Amino acid sequence: MSMNVQETLTSPLVWHPQTAAEAWQYKQTYGIHSVFVAGGTLLRTHWESGAAPMPQHFIDLSAIRGLNEIRVGEEGLLIGGQSKLQECRTNPLLQRHFPMAVDAIRSIAAPSIRNLATIGGNIASIVGDSVPALLVYDASLIWYNGQTEQEEKLSDWLLAAGQSGYRNDRLLLSLKLPLKSETSRGDRDENSTNSKMKRFGAFHKVGRREAFTPSVVTAAVSGSITDTGLLNKIQIAVGGGQTIPRRLIEVEKEIVGTAVDGEMLRHLFDRALELYEPREDVFASASYRKQTAANLIVTELWKASGRFIGQGG
Ligand SMILES: Cc1cc2nc3c(=O)[nH]c(=O)nc-3n(C[C@H](O)[C@H](O)[C@H](O)COP(=O)(O)OP(=O)(O)OC[C@H]3O[C@@H](n4cnc5c(N)ncnc54)[C@H](O)[C@@H]3O)c2cc1C
Repeated sequence: MSMNVQETLTSPLVWHPQTAAEAWQYKQTYGIHSVFVAGGTLLRTHWESGAAPMPQHFIDLSAIRGLNEIRVGEEGLLIGGQSKLQECRTNPLLQRHFPMAVDAIRSIAAPSIRNLATIGGNIASIVGDSVPALLVYDASLIWYNGQTEQEEKLSDWLLAAGQSGYRNDRLLLSLKLPLKSETSRGDRDENSTNSKMKRFGAFHKVGRREAFTPSVVTAAVSGSITDTGLLNKIQIAVGGGQTIPRRLIEVEKEIVGTAVDGEMLRHLFDRALELYEPREDVFASASYRKQTAANLIVTELWKASGRFIGQGG
């Protein structure tokens, strides 16, 4: 009997808010003794491994209405933070317009986990494997701060989240992915000077084995090349392991508009080594991760140039 009383005293309380405002209020009330719980798949690994103590209050987000919808909004595709990874993976709009995000989501864990885990939880974990692909698509996050909805670029939030002492009590409502027009999205476009473009894009995850593995390096690369071999657009993002993902904006600016040739690819390789600052762990050194990321990025551009140069006909 005394054991039961003891268990009752130490078991966490689970709150089931019906609205974002209620969820936020619980967070204000219980502060560091509480945690938002989406699918709970990441949180439970922290508690089970002893990496973090189990808080006294769970704020279960699953009953909040409207947070698991995927719909087209005025400025893009809105994906509710509570959308399951499996729903995202099979959503026709995501498959059609954001294939790299779908590839990234497919690489996360196994189906049993993806049926519980949410896109909001993956993003809020900061180092989720979906994040590099979302960065390449210029994703924004819609937060609730207790009074209003706030939109923030994913890239800006990641920069802030990387600062020591960063604390975020806001509730992630949804993710916004800008939708491009059919013309600019198509595989073959014509710009104002009538030159033809070919688009390319790929997401890569390198782990310690082929599937169902934590990432060592993740990279997403997308862009377009003219039929004369000039790089028209480029977006590159890298992450993996416990490294906070980031866009390699600096080198993107340096190479856009230049010819995709050996000199440019060497420059890209060297700059990727410099700019990507991975966290190392017992499984892979920083140097291995850098080499891997640089190889993945350069290979993608090399494949794209080989496939498209001279085929503009
Ligand atoms: C066996 C296994 C394999 C895994 N493999 C991978 C993998 O390959 N790649 C990968 O990226 N992850 C992996 N994970 C981690 C995890 O499953 C994913 O990151 C998942 O997407 C987390 O989502 P969730 O809904 O379960 O988040 P939760 O565990 O519920 O929450 C994660 C964090 O996000 C916060 N949070 C959740 N929702 C919100 C919100 N709306 N607003 C504010 N904060 C919020 C929580 O407070 C918590 O800090 C794996 C986990 C397991 C158990």
